[in-house]
Amino acid sequence: MVTKTDVETYLNFVNGSWISASSSEVAASINPANQNEIVGYLQKSTKEDLDTVVEAAKAAQKAWGKLSGAERGSYLYKVADIMESRLEDIAETMTREMGKTLPEAKGETARGVAILRYYAGEGMRKVGDVIPSTDSSALMFTSRVPLGVVGVITPWNFPVAIPIWKMAPALIYGNTIVLKPAQEAAVTAAKVIACFEEAKLPNGVVNFITGSGSVIGQGLVDHPGINGITFTGSDTVGKQVGQGVLARGAKYQLEMGGKNPVIVAEDADLDLAVEATISGGLRSTGQKCTATSRVIVHSSVYDTFKEKLLNQVKEIKVGNGLEEGVWMGPSASESQLNTVLSYIEKGKEEGATLLLGGNRILDQECANGFFVEPTVFENVTTDMTIAQEEIFGPVLALMKVDSLDEALTVANDVNYGLSASIFTTNIQKMLTFINDMDAGLVRINAESAGVELQAPFGGMKQSSSHSREQGQAAIEFFTSIKTVFVKG
Ligand code: NAD
Repeated sequence: MVTKTDVETYLNFVNGSWISASSSEVAASINPANQNEIVGYLQKSTKEDLDTVVEAAKAAQKAWGKLSGAERGSYLYKVADIMESRLEDIAETMTREMGKTLPEAKGETARGVAILRYYAGEGMRKVGDVIPSTDSSALMFTSRVPLGVVGVITPWNFPVAIPIWKMAPALIYGNTIVLKPAQEAAVTAAKVIACFEEAKLPNGVVNFITGSGSVIGQGLVDHPGINGITFTGSDTVGKQVGQGVLARGAKYQLEMGGKNPVIVAEDADLDLAVEATISGGLRSTGQKCTATSRVIVHSSVYDTFKEKLLNQVKEIKVGNGLEEGVWMGPSASESQLNTVLSYIEKGKEEGATLLLGGNRILDQECANGFFVEPTVFENVTTDMTIAQEEIFGPVLALMKVDSLDEALTVANDVNYGLSASIFTTNIQKMLTFINDMDAGLVRINAESAGVELQAPFGGMKQSSSHSREQGQAAIEFFTSIKTVFVKG
């Protein structure tokens, strides 16, 4: 057992310094692969601490907003270099803190570095248009101005990439930020913030505060000093965040859950479809908003697909993500594990057939962690809970259909619309899918999870507030348009 004194307590980063919260209460961040290991302690900050943080961000914004995009970009390039030099440590911390395997954690950290470089370059791009005026002696154009102070509220499942893909565009367009990460992965987030500290951004430009969602998250939503909230997390919390921010007339961006389908047509390359379904559904223990959860397969290839899928899922090595050869780590927390197990029970109760898995893993190596078996159901119908609600675990639901029309009806019969894939070699089916699938990301012959960083990312329906993150699309949320009319 570890004692509290062996483990570091991570402070808040405010106005360029690491400082203690006014309360001495802390929360432990636990290794989900071994609950006896405490990765770090996080302060339970108070509303008064939040006031100090927001004040610092507000005081720094004017000067930061007045720098040129190129100057702000030069800081982001420095942060990227520092983060790259610390990649191993950040990735290992991520694996210890939320369980994804080390190769995935390294990939995510490298992605964070690439996002920083991308947005550093965006500082040199045009931010407005000349609009022809009906008055020939006038000049009319648009410019972009920062929102001011942006509150960044993030989940635990991508503790580097998500904070970075919000912070980097916020900063390049002249905003200052207050980051409140999920407690379950806040040690990793603190290590990300330390890269900004080392790059010596002006004091107050980047601030970091830990605490509960109900106190610090809600505090940011309600704070009059916060001009915009960018949130990624569950739809339940997201809706609350949106209503709260709207009530006081600030701007919000919400990216929430998914219930992402893969359609396997009768002409699909089945080996490719199986590989992509497993990777999209079970990597990161199914804890991706874009994870495949419903697998809608044409009846003529269903049995072959199912057999190939089960044979490969059986071979998945589950364990501590730091160990070589482990393909799937634990659920990120005990409560996440319990949620997954309760969805599996619900699936059985409602009449789905459990083909594989379904249990917590309690053998010697996994006994101290929150491990669950990769799980596959069949005979799943659209009215079942496991076909409608986001599970956020390694659970695949097989659904059999007789046509593409039926597949699309099933695929669209959910409240979510984040990501969706089809596997087919037929161009007509591809086009029908592109047109008729209600999802922000539609992917052909590729897994549902993942999108390149320079492309817009976001969902339709209940998955999103319909603004987009990543790429050049991010400018829409992080700036306001100023229309300028100059009479000559
Ligand atoms: P969550 O909604 O529980 O928490 C997200 C963040 O909100 C955390 O920082 C939390 O502390 C904070 N929070 C909690 N209550 C709050 C409140 N009342 N006011 C303000 N903030 C509050 O989500 P989670 O469990 O951390 O993450 C998993 C969820 O995130 C899944 O639903 C997943 O689909 C979603 N997600 C979506 C995307 C996307 O881009 N669409 C990406 C990753 C994860």
